[in-house]
Amino acid sequence: LMQLFRPLDMLGWVYRTIRQGMIDMADMFRLLDKPVEVDDKPGAPALITRRPGVTFENVSFGYDKDRQILHGLSFEAPAGSTVALVGPSGAGKSTIGRLLFRFYDPWEGRICVDGQDIALVTQHSLRQQIGIVPQDTVLFNDTVRYNIAYGRDDPSDDQVRQAAEDASILPFIQELPKGFDTEVGERGLKLSGGEKQRVAIARTLLKDPPILLLDEATSALDSRTEQDIMSTLKRVSADRTTIAIAHRLSTIADADLINVMESGRIVEQGSHVELLRRDGLYAEMWNRQQNEDADPEEERDAAE
Ligand code: ADP
Ligand code: MG
Repeated sequence: LMQLFRPLDMLGWVYRTIRQGMIDMADMFRLLDKPVEVDDKPGAPALITRRPGVTFENVSFGYDKDRQILHGLSFEAPAGSTVALVGPSGAGKSTIGRLLFRFYDPWEGRICVDGQDIALVTQHSLRQQIGIVPQDTVLFNDTVRYNIAYGRDDPSDDQVRQAAEDASILPFIQELPKGFDTEVGERGLKLSGGEKQRVAIARTLLKDPPILLLDEATSALDSRTEQDIMSTLKRVSADRTTIAIAHRLSTIADADLINVMESGRIVEQGSHVELLRRDGLYAEMWNRQQNEDADPEEERDAAE
């Protein structure tokens, strides 16, 4: 009997999910052999935020049952602080971002925003509080204005202009033939990596979230552009709780707290100065990157 019921349950779930417009047909086939990852608890309240800090308490997680990725991770990002996650690729840094945005729930432990367990509030209210600046920004084939305003209902021209100014891209836009009405993307004007990144920052500023998640936000850029964007991001993150995932340590050296990750564990935790003094993994990574800076030839080789 169970065997008969299970597919029917599944069909009911698929039907409800499609009706709610939560997935498209392509996703459906992927989801069919996996249970839905995360759903709001029935009657879940909205997240209430005043000045939201973020805490990870003993968080363990894996994408598949037989492969654990994060092992009992704890750290705190007090409201308004900047906390960095660094470490080799595959260490689990982006996974932490995905858990904070609640694409998945932890196996164990909990993640709190402003003292509230994010698994117990609505995803919508949580995601409204978080702005993400990813590594690669994909632009829509539409105008500059559309790309900045995306995700916001009808911001005024002044608001869009202000966001562009705060992202230090207003002068660039004003020099375009059609200004904010210039078409960009694959079929329009192609923007450089740095310009796209600034559009992403402007988009985030318009959302004005109290929490910022920067996932290697500048790692695809050359080091000169990276420095420029970093100073913009520093200004933008000043009053926000910021989780910064970084490859180049020079971009996060002044974070309030640096978590050094390896194989899904935080192996060192402290400020830049404390971690250098410790002379462990962070110090080793720092020294290696300093040498690469001194020898651009080597940096280019390493990047390939
Ligand atoms: P980092 O950002 O530090 O480079 P990630 O958090 O992206 O690391 O990945 C950590 C580990 O989780 C890696 O071993 C990666 O292969 C694995 N992983 C990432 N995303 C998925 C996924 N969607 N399904 C299964 N495994 C994944
Ligand atoms: Mg990553």
